[in-house]
Amino acid sequence: MTTPADDGFATRAIHVGQEPDATTGAVVVPIYQTSTFAQDVVGETRAGYDYSRAGNPTRTALELALASLERGRHGKAFASGMAAADAAIRAILRPGDHLIIPSDAYGGSFRLIDKIGVPWGLTYSAVPLADLDAVRAAVRPNTRLIWCETPTNPLLGIADIYELAAIARDADAKLLVDNTFASPYLQQPLALGADIVLHSTTKYVGGHSDVVGGALITANDELGEAFSFHAKSMGAVAGPFDSWLTLRGLKTLAVRMERHCDNAEQIVDLLESHSRVGTVYYPGLETHPGHDVAAGQMHRFGGMVSFRVVGGREEAVKICSRTRLFTLGESLGGVESLIEHPALMTHASVAGSSLEVPDDLIRLSVGIEDIDDLIADLSDALD
Ligand SMILES: *Cc1c(COP(=O)(O)O)cnc(C)c1O
Repeated sequence: MTTPADDGFATRAIHVGQEPDATTGAVVVPIYQTSTFAQDVVGETRAGYDYSRAGNPTRTALELALASLERGRHGKAFASGMAAADAAIRAILRPGDHLIIPSDAYGGSFRLIDKIGVPWGLTYSAVPLADLDAVRAAVRPNTRLIWCETPTNPLLGIADIYELAAIARDADAKLLVDNTFASPYLQQPLALGADIVLHSTTKYVGGHSDVVGGALITANDELGEAFSFHAKSMGAVAGPFDSWLTLRGLKTLAVRMERHCDNAEQIVDLLESHSRVGTVYYPGLETHPGHDVAAGQMHRFGGMVSFRVVGGREEAVKICSRTRLFTLGESLGGVESLIEHPALMTHASVAGSSLEVPDDLIRLSVGIEDIDDLIADLSDALD
């Protein structure tokens, strides 16, 4: 596969949509902290902007950059990943439609579909997406959307985007890929046949744990139009300052992701050889059931690592509170390393459901600190 460097990825992250300001020469896109825009004559705007819910130049810069990095034609930036998910569902689906979701979907997406989508008139089937026969069997005449996450949270399951796109096409449905865990640097679903990419830009895209945001990207003009219409009509758009922070983070995505991957690989080596660690979940491991698919669709394998602890839940909880550099906390994808216990934290609300995770599981979001310090911290906590 072509590497991001062959493709000018890092250059586009810094330059697309980010020309120096025409009036002042400001090298960085300004924060256009304004709600409205002056018109010279009734109905005639100076640059296409009339009101910031419909469009704002700082948000446009972010949207153009994101669309370029995902190889789409249209990007829309939202107030959060969930706002983007809501807009996608309402733009693509109508009451009476059916969708297929991963049996280990992100909890927030599952809640949105189950608690808001279903009362609105949707039906869904939760299916392990790695099992393509199960996906084919779940397709109904009214299936209009396949919702994919790969890698998944927190067990790092892998779904084959190219094959899912073929199933969606045959069913006259759309394929949406939540690309939050991989980031556009490691995986570009549109090139593999997906119709829509969703991001929680809160995570790797923003990358500094200082802003919540979301995005939808597509190469389909009709969908792009529908996302713009829903963003404007529902109003959960990204504000100018949030857009600016996200764009600031996006500029360094390429270097950050390489370092996240370097560090994660070394943490995996440590875990694999440690007597107090059971299964290690990382798609870069040849023993991972999705390794070959991941190797075919990802540039590298990312910064998320999960593992099971010998000694069960009690030991796992203790380890989480013993690390010092790995901060105990939810979320992921920032420069700082985080550790968490999914069964009691991010996935507490799904206990007893199909999304339940083992209670001896620990999830790491491996940051970009010096690897020796991370290894020392984790080794101390494990010993
Ligand atoms: C965090 C996350 C979301 C939700 O995004 P928010 O920005 O928190 O609203 C959706 N999908 C995945 C995979 C996530 O990790």
